[in-house]
Amino acid sequence: MPERPDLEYVVPILAKELRGAEITAVRVDKPVVLRVLLPAKVDELLVGRKIDRVVRRAHFVRFGLRGEPPLEIIVSPMLAGRFTIGPAEAKAPRDTAMTFVLGDGRALRYRDDVQMGKVYVLPKDALDGIPGAANIGVDVLDPKVFTPGAFVALAKARRDQAKVFLMDKSALDAMGNAYADEVLFEAGIHPKAMVRSLPASMLERLHGAIVKVLGEARATIAERKPPIDEKVRDFLKVRGRPGEPCVRCTTKLRRAGVHGHDAIFCPTCQPDGRQSGLVDWRKTGG
Ligand SMILES: [Zn+2]
Repeated sequence: MPERPDLEYVVPILAKELRGAEITAVRVDKPVVLRVLLPAKVDELLVGRKIDRVVRRAHFVRFGLRGEPPLEIIVSPMLAGRFTIGPAEAKAPRDTAMTFVLGDGRALRYRDDVQMGKVYVLPKDALDGIPGAANIGVDVLDPKVFTPGAFVALAKARRDQAKVFLMDKSALDAMGNAYADEVLFEAGIHPKAMVRSLPASMLERLHGAIVKVLGEARATIAERKPPIDEKVRDFLKVRGRPGEPCVRCTTKLRRAGVHGHDAIFCPTCQPDGRQSGLVDWRKTGG
């Protein structure tokens, strides 16, 4: 899925490219992605509207529209969603889920080859009605709110495993599978480590790893300037590399299942604290 560093790159480009553009036609190529939370047809609602602003809110991309009543298009790209802007005349790629034809001859396309993402059309400021949008965690890229103290306090109340905690969007905004793995590798923490068993010093290290990994990823993607529909992930150290040697110690990277997700980690750099008596994992069912 597009994760926080990807959206940090894509959303400002969408905002710049689309500001003031008028939607002149809407095509729903894959109806399964569309949720219209208003008693009207999607083209009646959107055609003739101009895009006013594009912003990110957690993992949602919000397109604010001018006109009355104020409306928004909100996209939750989930696993595989992505955007392209190109000539409206061009042949739409097969994974195109929705097409917004613009008055200037271009089209904004939402593409999603697994169709797990959603495109919502709803009244402005109704975002909280969308599943997963009402409770958004602390912004990990805002140093004013994401302090070591705030993070340690948050972590101390957790009863789950490190990877599960990092991916909880109601706690932290935000990490998905890929960056949670990268952060845990950076911090030297096993993905299944119980958060409450980690000493404060390790939690502070984990805080530092989140700031470093996501900050550096944002900078790297900005420097590489990929097309907005391309996810740059080749600089990641563990994600997508099971079986490859660890960049630090050359041990083979392993894969573990953590609550329905997979985690890639280095068994040497991220030792399993559960076996050293910190937590008796046989009793916790871990
Ligand atoms: Zn290693």
